[in-house]
Amino acid sequence: MKINKIALHGFRNYEFETTDFGPGTNVIYGANAQGKTNLLEAVYMLAAGKSFRTRFDKELIGFGYDSADILADIVSHDREQTVNIVLRQGVRKQIKVNSVKKTAGELSGTLNAVLFCPDDLNLIKEGAAARRKLLDNAICQIRPRYGEYLTEFNRYYENKTRILKDWREKPSLLDTLDEFTDGMNRMSAQLIRYRAAFAKRLNEEAKPIHSEFSGLGEELCIEYSTVSSVRDPLGSAKEIYYDLCDHHEAHKKAELEAQQCLTGAHKDDLIISINGKNARSFASQGQTRTAALSIKLAEREIYLAETGEYPILLLDDVLSELDTKRQEFVLNRIGGGQTLITCCEDEGISNRTGGKVIHVDSGRIR
Ligand code: ATP
Ligand code: MG
Repeated sequence: MKINKIALHGFRNYEFETTDFGPGTNVIYGANAQGKTNLLEAVYMLAAGKSFRTRFDKELIGFGYDSADILADIVSHDREQTVNIVLRQGVRKQIKVNSVKKTAGELSGTLNAVLFCPDDLNLIKEGAAARRKLLDNAICQIRPRYGEYLTEFNRYYENKTRILKDWREKPSLLDTLDEFTDGMNRMSAQLIRYRAAFAKRLNEEAKPIHSEFSGLGEELCIEYSTVSSVRDPLGSAKEIYYDLCDHHEAHKKAELEAQQCLTGAHKDDLIISINGKNARSFASQGQTRTAALSIKLAEREIYLAETGEYPILLLDDVLSELDTKRQEFVLNRIGGGQTLITCCEDEGISNRTGGKVIHVDSGRIR
């Protein structure tokens, strides 16, 4: 998969700009606040249908504009395709592939991207939400149904959370509680199945990468953790659903007292260990960074296996955060696919990779 050309109109700080990308490594460099991440964000939008920085599409529209337009020529499954996203104030975004309307979820059948930014280097030390986000973003791109389950789940979760928060002041709210609980359990069962399967693949793919990367043959292990009553997260949605109902039954009273949801996929996490020790508690900074990178590179391999093509790899500002050995490892490992790397100085990366160099300056691309 690759992107050959992009045109941005009224997107973030881009008035009207177009640029071509090379098939291999593309180094996007420029001073701070010039538009490097904005350019990656636009490319990410084409794959995910949403930004990785904000939930609010209107923030993507350039100041003083009423709409933003992203138009791109891409190649996927050996076919040239055109992807167009139009964002308008107060109107739902419009996504088209070859002039045919698509939903954000359907975009994943056309283009996939793996993003790696400095925050991801702390993936392992951060709270569980960061790891759930990793799972959600990745699975959404390879399993379109998952995105629909996730949206439904969030709707139930938010409603139920509100009821639990306010029921003491307004007991009538409890009338609809069961309905939301059931919805949450049904959607959680789906999310759990997908997440467990993806975590298993991630573990298999990241292990050899991390072992080689650490140079010490360290063993990385990724385990999926979910609601304790779920006996087999890889089992059928129906079995998982019943296990969740059991858990909820046992915690029903506690839930009302605690005024928060105690059963559901919002509790999920990935337990990451290195040589048998929990990485979140015991790993050094270097180890956690190495593990985070291995996980991202593993994600890329999973996409290759699933779609037959490497996704576009977006590296936002990460190389400067890595020591030379890790930089070399990444640069050697990213062959075979297209990569867009942003950095403040070209730092000789283009010499090392022989790729295209793109200079971004105040929303202009040179
Ligand atoms: P850094 O090296 O600091 O990461 P960058 O080149 O990646 O910088 P971007 O994050 O791409 O910078 O942002 C460039 C500029 O775009 C910022 O100054 C920001 O204020 C501006 N910007 C963000 N959103 C909008 C918008 N909706 N309209 C216009 N400008 C915007
Ligand atoms: Mg940036």
